[in-house]
Amino acid sequence: MSKRILENPFIELQGVTKAFGRTPVLQGLDLAVARSEVACIIGPSGSGKSTVLRCINALTPVDSGRVEVAGIRVDSARLDAQALRKRVGIVFQGYNLFPHRTVLQNVMMAPIQVLGRERSEVEAQARALLAKVRLTGKENAYPGELSGGQQQRVAIARSLCMQPEVMLFDEVTAALDPETVKEVLSVIQEIAAEGMTCVLVTHEMRFAQEAADYVYFMDQGRVVEHGSADALFRAPQDARTRAFLDKVL
Ligand code: ADP
Ligand code: MG
Repeated sequence: MSKRILENPFIELQGVTKAFGRTPVLQGLDLAVARSEVACIIGPSGSGKSTVLRCINALTPVDSGRVEVAGIRVDSARLDAQALRKRVGIVFQGYNLFPHRTVLQNVMMAPIQVLGRERSEVEAQARALLAKVRLTGKENAYPGELSGGQQQRVAIARSLCMQPEVMLFDEVTAALDPETVKEVLSVIQEIAAEGMTCVLVTHEMRFAQEAADYVYFMDQGRVVEHGSADALFRAPQDARTRAFLDKVL
């Protein structure tokens, strides 16, 4: 399938390759996401989805190809990774909250320490974000006192408190109880509705179908098929996409 052409992509990967040792993981990957768009990456385990997200915020350096995010050349040898990561938030399956810090402290820490912002201003924002992720009243709780879904929402609020322009979500609901998955997904949907550019790796096909503007299906380090959520789920073109969707839908 030919690559997606966007006039003004906010995130663009072109011909990206990456190998770990002798194992090729990304094999000429093309991907483009517009500003304020919600893009989902789906595909079998091991197809390279997490690696794509890690290449977008420079946690994993690419071997070749071009990566540009919010006007920053991520593949440049002179990349300022700190500057990039201020603009690109990432939330993982494991929430990685500091267990001996309260919910509020977890959210406030990075904006104060990394961005040097003023404490009272950060606190006001942190409280507002905790309200947005529906955790008002939990400000002084410790992570261990919260459910998985609540901890994940703290992790999302913490990431948002850095005021990023892009949010990456890597299977953020994969470890959650089914009844808490929805509360996390609806928070993500709200963030997206407010115009945040979001790239999600997810196994939640119904969520992808409903919330994504655009969907990439990956297999073996390549984008096999891409299209609007509507087109890709209703009428997948490639046999590999069909086989995958048959299994997971
Ligand atoms: P997905 O998220 O689609 O399951 P990943 O991007 O995590 O896939 O991984 C793709 C492939 O790269 C897998 O075969 C995985 O074992 C391998 N891989 C990922 N990260 C590393 C690493 N740091 N070192 C070695 N191999 C890795
Ligand atoms: Mg993964």
